[in-house]
Amino acid sequence: MAKRDYYEVLGVTRTSTEIEITKAYRGLAKKYHPDQNPGDDEVVAKYHEVTEAYEVLKDGNRKQIYDRYGHEGLAQAAAGGGGGGGVDLGDLLGQVFGDFLGGGGRGRKARGPRRGEDIEDVIDVDLLEAATGVKKTVSIRYEANCKECGGSGAKAGTQPVQCKRCKGSGAEYVSAGGLFSFPQACRGCSGRGTVIPDPCKACRGVGRVESRESLDLNIPPGVDTRIRLSVPGHGHEGAPGATRGNLELIIRVREHKIFERDGHNLICQFPVSFARAALGGPVELTTLTNQKVTIEVPRGAQTHTTVLRAVGHGMPDLDDPRRKGDLLVILVVETPTSLSPEQEQLLRKLAELEGTTPPMPRKGFFGKLKDLINGDVPPTGQKN
Ligand SMILES: [Zn+2]
Ligand SMILES: [Zn+2]
Repeated sequence: MAKRDYYEVLGVTRTSTEIEITKAYRGLAKKYHPDQNPGDDEVVAKYHEVTEAYEVLKDGNRKQIYDRYGHEGLAQAAAGGGGGGGVDLGDLLGQVFGDFLGGGGRGRKARGPRRGEDIEDVIDVDLLEAATGVKKTVSIRYEANCKECGGSGAKAGTQPVQCKRCKGSGAEYVSAGGLFSFPQACRGCSGRGTVIPDPCKACRGVGRVESRESLDLNIPPGVDTRIRLSVPGHGHEGAPGATRGNLELIIRVREHKIFERDGHNLICQFPVSFARAALGGPVELTTLTNQKVTIEVPRGAQTHTTVLRAVGHGMPDLDDPRRKGDLLVILVVETPTSLSPEQEQLLRKLAELEGTTPPMPRKGFFGKLKDLINGDVPPTGQKN
C-alpha cells in the first residue's frame, strides 16, 4: 500500500503552522488511540499513521526533507544517517561544517568565539634538574591572528564580502544520487560564507600568522618522565577575542650515568675493596645532589647482594618536595688488578692461610636448580 501524504493524513496543509499541526494530531490521536479502540486493528493502524506523519512534520529538518523529496527522500536520509532512525539535517550540517566553521553549526554563537588550540611539546631535563627543580627558557611558535587585518584576512579598510555561490550560507548541495542531496562546504568560500576580494598582504588573506615567544618556566622538583605541565594561555590564539589555548609540556627525564630512578628511590652501585667488604666499616659516597654521605658497610658484605640505604637521598615528591625517597646502594666488591709489593705480600699470606683450611664445597644457585630438576629434594606431603 502506497504511503499517504503526511499532510493529508493529518488533514493540514503545507502552510499550516506548527500549532495547527499539533492541534490536528492531538485530535486524531485521541480518536484513534488503541486504548479507545481495543481489538480494532484498522483503527490502530490509523493511529500509527497519524503518529508517523506528526513525527515528521513537527521536526523542522525532516519536514524540510519531506517537503522537497517526499517519502523517498526521508527513507534515503534515514539510510544515510547510519540507520539510527531518521536523520537530523542540522546534525548533518554540524558534522560537515564543524571543521570549517570552527566547532559545530547551531550552538556556535551561544558559546562565543572559539578558544585557541593547545600546543603540545616535550621538554628534556636531567635527573639532577628533576631532583632540584630548574628554570628553563622555552621558545614556542604559535598561530596568532594577523594584527594587520585583525584576523579577517581582508586588507585594512576593506571587508570580506558575502560569497555569491552560497549566498553566505557556506553550504552547497551535492547530489548523492537519487533525490536526496548532501550539504557540503561551499567550494567558493570553503564554508566560510564570505570571500575576500582584497586580501591582507601580511597574512595573504588567511587572517592567521605564525608568532614566536620565549617563556621562562619553573620546573618543580620531583618531575618524572611523562609528567604533564600545563601553561595556560600560551597555546595558539583562538578566534579574535577568544582566549588562547594552553601550552602542554610533557617532561622527559634523561638517563643518568650513575643513578637510576625507581619511583621516589634512586639506585646506584658502589665499589668497595675486597678487604673493606670482608672487614666492614664506614665508606663515604657522593649523592646525586653532590652531598657527602657516610654509610656503614657490614662485615662480610657480598657483591651485588648487600644493599645499603641512604635514607632521604632519593627523589623528592612532586606534591610535597620535603618528602624524599631513599638512595639504595648496591655494593660491588672489586678484585684488585694491580698490587703494590706490600699488598701482594699480604694477599699471599692470606692465600697460604686459606690453603690450610680448604673451603667446603657449596651449592650455588644452578646447583640447587639442578637438584630441583632431578627431584633430589626432600619429599613433602607424600603419604607412605
Ligand atoms: Zn560560499
Ligand atoms: Zn592579515
